[in-house]
Formats: sequence, structure tokens, C-alpha cells
Amino acid sequence: MKKILVTGGAGFLGSHLCDRLIEQGHEIICLDSLFTGSQKNIESLLKHPSFTFIKHDVVDPIDFEKLDEIYNLACPASPVHYQFNPIHTMKTSVMGGLNMLELARKTGAKVFQASTSEVYGDPSVHPQPEEYWGNVNTIGIRSCYDEGKRAAETLFFDYQRVHGVKIKVVRIFNTYGPRMAADDGRVVSNFIVQALRGQDLTVYGDGSQTRSFCYADDLVAGFMQLMNAGDEIVGPINMGNPGEFTMIELAEKVLRLTGSTSKLIHMPLPQDDPKQRRPDITKAKQLLGWEPTVALEQGLERTIDYFKKVVTQ
Ligand code: NAD
Ligand code: UDP
Repeated sequence: MKKILVTGGAGFLGSHLCDRLIEQGHEIICLDSLFTGSQKNIESLLKHPSFTFIKHDVVDPIDFEKLDEIYNLACPASPVHYQFNPIHTMKTSVMGGLNMLELARKTGAKVFQASTSEVYGDPSVHPQPEEYWGNVNTIGIRSCYDEGKRAAETLFFDYQRVHGVKIKVVRIFNTYGPRMAADDGRVVSNFIVQALRGQDLTVYGDGSQTRSFCYADDLVAGFMQLMNAGDEIVGPINMGNPGEFTMIELAEKVLRLTGSTSKLIHMPLPQDDPKQRRPDITKAKQLLGWEPTVALEQGLERTIDYFKKVVTQ
């Protein structure tokens, strides 16, 4: 049994990760400021004797005597939320990353960083392999998130080089599933909630921009495979589902699967919105034998079932 710290553990992805780690018999400390996460996501775990929840902001240092592994997921992921307090978002990635790396250095724990496809910015290489250095606007409204995550990657690799800390870095592409917050602002939750409420689906721009959507269970399995792989496999490694769809295609799928008669309306495209995104997952396949198993429609059906239970009309 390992002692594992999960930051952002009350969030969408973090809570699924905590579920899997508890199932495997580990002792979990879940650290979360509850900025975008919720105790509801970890309701069943709060009673578990091997699960501890600590409300804490990763920007502030924290000490533990013994830890085997740290999964650093703390950071708002939806553009609406990470742009709400952009300076704090940057601090969360940089100071939060630094605090977790210091903790790893002191305890000898392996430390995992939830990085992002946003390090590629609005990519001029498609699909995106890990070798691509990206195309990020340093001063735009998405930069607090993109540049924060890029700086965190730098810190992780410098801690490995300078202090010999064992690191694991994954670049996550758009992921969806149950426990996304209904007001999260990301496209999958927005479209499903709007369709279930009979509201217009808000397509930003002309809807021709593309994304690749990975189901949460697939991604979390990949996180654990990377953490448990040999120390020589550090990443950065792309994880996502290579199926690529326009936002119009996504909207049409959601309408069909919900049976909703809602209409599509077009809203302004946000500044610096990437035009296309699809992961090259060759490395994840070769190094970890990982690839997604849940197709978009299958994952959407499960996510729609979840939102039917939590969304009030
Ligand atoms: P989420 O917003 O549901 O979860 C983030 C969690 O971190 C929340 O519980 C929030 O309260 C907590 N948090 C935020 N700032 C914090 C702080 N300063 N201190 C402590 N806790 C804090 O988002 P998610 O989709 O579960 O994302 C989890 C991680 O994965 C994030 O680091 C995100 O950047 C990364 N990621 C997610 C996606 C995706 O599509 N879901 C894509 C790329 C990267
Ligand atoms: N989007 C949209 N309608 C919405 C929310 C988002 O058309 O209600 C678009 C957004 O402009 C982007 C894509 O969907 O092109 C994915 O947005 P999301 O916020 O989910 O993630 P991103 O990949 O931008 O971080």
C-alpha cells in the first residue's frame, strides 16, 4: 500500500483518480482548494478510512513526513475558470508546481504533473507530437494557463536534472465525462446541459474548429500506467483520443443522443481559440501500451446519463 497525495483531487479528473487509487488499496491524501472542485465528487470517499481530505491551496507550501507518490492535478482547467483570476492561475501552476516538487525532493516521492495540450497553443503542426514546441501567445487571455503549464514543465525537468527528483509529465488533451461541473463552461458539459434544458447550444465562431475528446476513465488509466512505468519513462507524453471532430459535429451528436430539439446559435469566438487540436499518441502506445478504448458516442451517452441526474430543468 502506497501513501499518495492527489492535488486537485476533488475536481473532475482528480476525483476519478482518487476512486481508482482507493480501489487499489492505497492511502490517499486529497488536497484541494475547492475552487472548481466539490466535496460532492468525493462524497463516497470521505467515509473511507484510507482517504483524507485537506482543504488547501497549493500556492501555499505544505509538509508531509512520508509520501510515495504525488499526482499534481490542482489547477482550474476550463477557460472560464482559469481566466477568472488569471494571476492566481499562473501562481497555481508555478508556485503549486514548485511546492509539490519541493515536497517530492524532501520525501523522495515520485511526482506526476498534469500538463496540457495547451502547451502547443494554436498549433501550426497537426496532429501534435511531443517534439512540437508550440505556438503560444505570451500575453493573451489564455496565457495564464498555457504559460503557467509550460513553466511548470520547465520546473519539473529542472528538478529532475538538478535534484534527481523522479518525475512524470503527461500532456492531457480535452477530456470529458461524469463529474464535470454543469457550469464548467467547457464545450461538452455546456452542450449536454443546454440540450437537456432545451436551451440553444452555444457554438463559438462558425464551429469549424476541431478538438479530440477523451473519456475520463481512459485518461485516468493512462495516468496510473505512466506513474507505474519504469523511472526512465518521464514524458512529456501526450494522452488523449485521436478522434477529431468540429464543434458543429459535436453539437449534432449531442442533439441526436439527447433527443433534444434545441437549436444551434453562434456566439463570438474567444480570443486565441486554437483552430485545431489532435494528439499524436504514438509515444503513449509504444512506451506504455496505452490507447483510449471509449468512442466519443459511447462516452457521450455515459456523460449524458450523469447530467440527466444532476441537472435540474
Ligand atoms: P477541474 O477544474 O475539475 O479540477 C481542478 C481541481 O483543482 C479542482 O478540484 C479545483 O478546486 C482544484 N484547484 C484549482 N486551483 C487550486 C489551487 N490553487 N490549490 C488547490 N486546488 C486547486 O479540472 P479537471 O478537468 O479535473 O483538470 C485536472 C487537471 O488536469 C488540471 O491540472 C488541468 O489543467 C489538467 N487538464 C485537464 C484537461 C481536461 O480536458 N479535463 C485537459 C488538459 C489538462
Ligand atoms: N466552445 C463552444 N461552445 C461552448 C464552449 C466552447 O463552441 O459553449 C468551443 C470553444 O470555442 C473551443 C472548443 O469549443 O473551440 C473547446 O472549448 P473548451 O472550453 O471545452 O476547451 P479548450 O480546448 O478551448 O480549452
